[in-house]
Amino acid sequence: MIKLYELTAHELLEKLRRNELTQEEIVSGLNKRIEEVDSKVKAYVRVGELSSSDGLPIAIKDNICIQGQPTTCASKILENFRPPYDATVIQKLREAGFAIYGQTNMDEFAFGSSCENSALFPTRNPWNLECVPGGSSGGSAAAVAAGEAIWALGSDTGGSIRQPAAFCGVVGLKPTYGRVSRYGLIAFASSLDQIGPITKDVEDATMLFAAIAGYDPHDSTSVNRPLPDYSASLGKDIKGIRIGVPKEYFSLSKGAQLEGIDDEVKRSVEEAIAQLRNLGAKVKEVSLPYSQYAVPVYYIVATAEASSNLARFDGVQYGLRAKDAQNLIEMYKKTRERGFGYEAKRRIILGTYVLSHGYYEAYYVRAQKVRSLIANDFANAFKECDCIVTPTSPTPAFRIGEKTQDPLAMYLSDIYTISVNLTGIPAISIPCGLSKAGLPVGLQIIAKAFNEEMLFRMAHAYEQNTSWHKQKPHL
Ligand code: GLN
Repeated sequence: MIKLYELTAHELLEKLRRNELTQEEIVSGLNKRIEEVDSKVKAYVRVGELSSSDGLPIAIKDNICIQGQPTTCASKILENFRPPYDATVIQKLREAGFAIYGQTNMDEFAFGSSCENSALFPTRNPWNLECVPGGSSGGSAAAVAAGEAIWALGSDTGGSIRQPAAFCGVVGLKPTYGRVSRYGLIAFASSLDQIGPITKDVEDATMLFAAIAGYDPHDSTSVNRPLPDYSASLGKDIKGIRIGVPKEYFSLSKGAQLEGIDDEVKRSVEEAIAQLRNLGAKVKEVSLPYSQYAVPVYYIVATAEASSNLARFDGVQYGLRAKDAQNLIEMYKKTRERGFGYEAKRRIILGTYVLSHGYYEAYYVRAQKVRSLIANDFANAFKECDCIVTPTSPTPAFRIGEKTQDPLAMYLSDIYTISVNLTGIPAISIPCGLSKAGLPVGLQIIAKAFNEEMLFRMAHAYEQNTSWHKQKPHL
């Protein structure tokens, strides 16, 4: 018997076309699945049909504005905030006939890699409820993996789509910076943030990406370039495509290797590379010499931008306001003290520090210079290859509580994803294995700016010849 909740969007659309299924059956199937498993997984912060469209339902991360509907970034400071407008991606989805179905949990303001920084509750990994789903788009990835959503949107500033996709065994795409409008995405770090799809397979990712991509005059960083037909990337062979494997990510020589890659992740990724070679790709070693600076540079640039972006949440215009203050300054202080969680405060303090007089040149300006060097690394590597393949995350999902006391250990879980955001290029994570403990492993494929087609082509070829994306958690 087919399990409705395991079907991909393109399979469901096919069944709708053939009149084997109705829209009502899809929605009631989804409702039923959520009733069955969401008390365990806790992927959603708000659910129910939010739109009356009869298209396929989609789940939305809680930092993407939906007109008139609470949108809170899983933060207390935005409780009761109802945006007066739709984000551009929401508008595009509505126009394309999607039904906006529910909103998913996340780390507060997208600060985190585990969903444990949500002010509401942690989301759990459908493959092992004792483990985190990854973050910050953990609710979206867990919902798709558990069959509680057909597909979902997430946002990625340093890995927040790809790392949870890897931890939950689903597909996640971080588009090229400027490809998808950020208008209506509540800003974390404006020079890094992108919205992207989280789906059950590559074909769905292609469809959802095509629906949200494109120029938007409301976002000054949006790029006006024609959109190719992404579906044309599917089913192409990959003969002769040059794959770069960064030696810094795998080498065993001391100093060069990035910290803490798990043996099972390494083996799965090596097997995936061998598989791609069997399909006709040419594998060569490339070098990204500044890789080791990516995490420190990111935590300067991202916190600096976050401290500036979060200054607007002061009790005046949005969400929470402390009512017991004697004057304006006290109102600001009490609102921010009560409204922000621990990690948000840590980032505001760090970001304010690196931007402050006397430290600005030493930290912020310097980090921006090293950011350029990291981007140069990729430009040089892409002279010798068409795409770069790495693990998405150095480990499979970790246990809830394992890293909450150690922010540095948490920050290192994005070691392979962060450079991509600093450089503005696109990358996809696809399932490529299961650990002995039964947890998914993700393969990251990185391409040149505006070459999402290369990602779809490689990822789809790999997927068609393997069955990792068909493995499902038992809930
Ligand atoms: N985990 C990273 C952080 O905590 C990235 C988060 C993100 O991409 N939003 O900042």
